[in-house]
Amino acid sequence: MLFSAMVRVCVIGAGAAGVCAARHLLVEPCVDHVDIFEQASQLGGTWVYTEKVGYDDFGLPIHSSMYKSLRTNLPKEIMGFPDFPVPESEKSYLPAKEMLSFLQLYADKHQVTDRINFNHHVNLVIPKAGPSGELWDVSFKNLLNGESETREYDYVFVCNGHYNTPFIPNIPGLKEFQGDVMHSHDYRVPEIFSGKRVLVVGAGPSGMDIALEVTNVAHKVILSHHLKEQPRTVFPDNLTQKPDVKRLDGKKVHFADESEDEVDVVFLCTGYLYNFPFLHESCNISVEDNCVEPLYKHLVNIHHPTMCFIGVPYYVCAFSMFDLQVRYYIRSINGTFSLPSTEEMIAHWEEEKKDRASRGYTKRQAHMMGPDQASYYMSLSEESETVPLPPVFTSIHNDSSQKFLDNLTSYRDDVYEVIDDKQFACFRLQSV
Ligand code: FAD
Repeated sequence: MLFSAMVRVCVIGAGAAGVCAARHLLVEPCVDHVDIFEQASQLGGTWVYTEKVGYDDFGLPIHSSMYKSLRTNLPKEIMGFPDFPVPESEKSYLPAKEMLSFLQLYADKHQVTDRINFNHHVNLVIPKAGPSGELWDVSFKNLLNGESETREYDYVFVCNGHYNTPFIPNIPGLKEFQGDVMHSHDYRVPEIFSGKRVLVVGAGPSGMDIALEVTNVAHKVILSHHLKEQPRTVFPDNLTQKPDVKRLDGKKVHFADESEDEVDVVFLCTGYLYNFPFLHESCNISVEDNCVEPLYKHLVNIHHPTMCFIGVPYYVCAFSMFDLQVRYYIRSINGTFSLPSTEEMIAHWEEEKKDRASRGYTKRQAHMMGPDQASYYMSLSEESETVPLPPVFTSIHNDSSQKFLDNLTSYRDDVYEVIDDKQFACFRLQSV
């Protein structure tokens, strides 16, 4: 093991990623002190359901995009942490409320909850030169008493989530649309669409789920998307699928196939933007077309390697990946391994971008894992010599994602059972 001094660490956010970071940092011998800042009054981030939309009591944008009926789109068998699985239950796909309870259980078990500074909003992170290397000044505000403070750290873990800043596509005529326009970030219950003609734009996991739910109350739903693989789900009669929207005109929608229709609501299920409003420009992190760079392995700030970002990749086994990323990064802090030089990390990132582009990924998909997740997990565990994730995680993820496309209406009735989680990617499935 290489030499490492005692360090002070700041964790921004106490969703699943921040709680996981804290769980490992709090027991890491080389860590002298950990501050965890969470702007909300409770942990859980995405999994905290609130009826509120817009702004909270302190004038901050509502963070969570959770809707009331949500059940996970991945089975509980791969929703837990490697060292803390989701407890046994009859179902595999759990309601958001149960996921929140699970996160609370995890945080309590590892004495994280009591260490979180709730109602503390981080508003500025700025690097500065220290006597023996770079340090960070982190400024935050206690929302309850309005007091602001700046503290100094050796390391910063950015865990602020990336499903909270809506991406609004550039659709000609959207601003002038004569009906209602809303984003899925503000969606809570379907009743707001009762009797209406609703255009759902986007068919990611949320778009598809919500479109289906809205068919129960809406007069009709048009699901506009450009999925390469058409979902094989048999949708209700009041849902039709259409290609991309070319333009809007009054209440009229013109589609790319030259067809047209009239709707009352344009409902954007178009995803979210990575957003780090508290990072000073000297952190050297840019976000363009949803590509956060330059990051080594989607995780380490290449120009300031004492800053890491937990949870940037998507289409992953999220909590397990957070755990692996945290273990990887802590092993670089405690000297188990050394991160490559700046030049090597840049070269690695450029090579990865080239490779992704050659396989047809767009810039916007810079952090999409999906089929790449197994090799991503392996590269983290091999480089840092930490325990890998069992291959069964990836195979269940793939199976569940396919079933989502095949039968959106009932795939959540499946129950998974892991048979062997070490040597084989093996699981058993039954439908209930
Ligand atoms: P978050 O949960 O967003 O937590 C970030 C935390 O940081 C929040 O508590 C926030 O208040 C805090 N914060 C932000 N900025 C600041 C600041 N400046 N100062 C202090 N605190 C700050 N994933 C799955 O694996 N399975 C699913 O079924 C699934 N369903 C989803 C459904 C919806 C509707 C959405 C939106 C996401 C879903 N996800 C799902 C993805 C989910 O977001 C991740 O699994 C995971 O919970 C993200 O955790 P996180 O900690 O990275 O971010």
